[in-house]
Amino acid sequence: MTKKNPNLTAEQKLVMFEDGTEPPGTSDLNSEKREGTYHCANCEIKLFSSKAKYESGSGWPSFYKSLPDVFETKTDHLLGYARTEYHCKNCNAHHGHIFEDGPEPTGKRYCNNGVCLVFKEEA
Ligand SMILES: [Zn+2]
Repeated sequence: MTKKNPNLTAEQKLVMFEDGTEPPGTSDLNSEKREGTYHCANCEIKLFSSKAKYESGSGWPSFYKSLPDVFETKTDHLLGYARTEYHCKNCNAHHGHIFEDGPEPTGKRYCNNGVCLVFKEEA
């Protein structure tokens, strides 16, 4: 069920609920290196651990795996070819796409729009 957080910015709404994409290299989270967790900006559940974050060079925050059972995926053809998009299982917000060029051990790259994430440093 989709439930929108009333505090979202226009850009967050565009990315999370209208399949938008933020311009690459614009997220402060690209350079975030602290230990902590990344939460859904819409519903605040935990989605990623900083342990799975890596520098992909893509311009978007990238992770080789998510926390267990937090996303659902579907195939989209918005760019004329098949891509695997993923969205928050809890609130349905779109987060990014999964590519098969990630590092070991999963070989996956969760390419996540930074505006969809909120970082919380480990206390
Ligand atoms: Zn969510």
